[in-house]
Amino acid sequence: MFEQSRLNLAQWFTLSMGSILVAFAGVLYVWEARERLYFFDQTLYNSSQVIASGVEEITYGEKRRIDLENAPLLGSDAIKLDTNIVFARWYTPEKALLQFMGDIPAPTLKATLGFQTLHGHGSAPQPALRQLTLPVYRDGRMLGYLQVAASLDPVIPPLQQLRLFLGIGLPIALAIIAFTGWLLGGRAMQPIRLAYRRLQQFTADASHELRAPLAAIISNAQLGLMEPTSPTEQADCLKTISEAGESMSTLVGHLLFLARHQGQLPPEAFQPTEVGALLTSIAADYNPRMTAQDLHFEVISLAGTAWVQGEPGLLRQAIANLLDNACRYTPAGGTIRLVGQLQPRWVYVRVEDSGLGIPVEDLPHIFERFYRVDKERSRQAGGFGLGLAIVRQIVELHGGQIKATSQVKQGSQFQIRLPLVASPTD
Ligand code: ADP
Repeated sequence: MFEQSRLNLAQWFTLSMGSILVAFAGVLYVWEARERLYFFDQTLYNSSQVIASGVEEITYGEKRRIDLENAPLLGSDAIKLDTNIVFARWYTPEKALLQFMGDIPAPTLKATLGFQTLHGHGSAPQPALRQLTLPVYRDGRMLGYLQVAASLDPVIPPLQQLRLFLGIGLPIALAIIAFTGWLLGGRAMQPIRLAYRRLQQFTADASHELRAPLAAIISNAQLGLMEPTSPTEQADCLKTISEAGESMSTLVGHLLFLARHQGQLPPEAFQPTEVGALLTSIAADYNPRMTAQDLHFEVISLAGTAWVQGEPGLLRQAIANLLDNACRYTPAGGTIRLVGQLQPRWVYVRVEDSGLGIPVEDLPHIFERFYRVDKERSRQAGGFGLGLAIVRQIVELHGGQIKATSQVKQGSQFQIRLPLVASPTD
């Protein structure tokens, strides 16, 4: 699937870049050919003007005669003209041939006026010629037609070279583009591949977690259906089924939470929330549990009020998850501290415990979904490895950060940092 997508990306990249390149090369070639031909035509026209300027009209009484003796290339008295002109011809105003230099032409002028390109004229293969035919006027009177032609040699070989260069260069450039497209396709697929792998892992982990309670439900239901069973045995089976159901419900709740709160919360979900009051309320909720678990619970409240823009329910859940973990992984007799601290732009909430601690190598992974330091210990404690992932998601939704430090058998510290906002009464 990924290889096919990568191939498609590379193909589209090559196609689009290749089309741009080919179009660019085409424009370059046409522009170059037109420029060269334009300068060639200019030179041919200038030469024709020099020849035409040597043409004289002599009048004998009523009669008028054209004298070409002083016309370069056509006349014998003419000055030499340094051009690559192949032939020059002079026709009378009636288009009859009067004088010529070069190939023997037809006796009358047939060509249309202006520039023309002649390919392979004559019998032998000859270079292409550029021909110019133009009428020559003097004092408003037409003297005749001048036709000149020059070899296109200065134009064609450079264009042939350019064609050769483009012909070889373009396929090489296209191959480089295709290769680059393939590499870029690979890079573009990387995050998608990673996300897909994560999703696969997430689905596999979720299914795995659901399998255990499901198996417990099925086996206990089958056991309960077997005859004969005592009422106490049946009650045990139902209790296990109920517990497994509750465990599944918690897991599904966590999964739904993670899926639902992915990305961003709607702006209307946020409201000014005072962290000090939130901490006091959470502490009051946890006091009985701490006493029941024989844990020493210290609450160090904020020195002042700290307003954050947040969803109070979610913030409560994040801090509660940390306190839940502290209770789970701290043996009886230990200490748990809930600390609030105010800084100029941030409010810090810390949950510290003197519990089992987390090994250094596990610390970077504990916020990943389904990551558990000690699978058995965590499962026995009723955890799925989703609690801290949920905390991180909530904190990040609020523009905050979470970090953890820990030492095995000494305890752990989880610190949430949230950006402060102005008090709503200000
Ligand atoms: P769980 O629900 O399994 O506790 P969490 O995402 O909350 O999952 O925590 C991930 C792992 O981090 C747990 O498996 C646990 O081993 C470890 N952990 C989290 N909090 C603490 C803590 N306060 N003390 C020791 N270990 C902790």
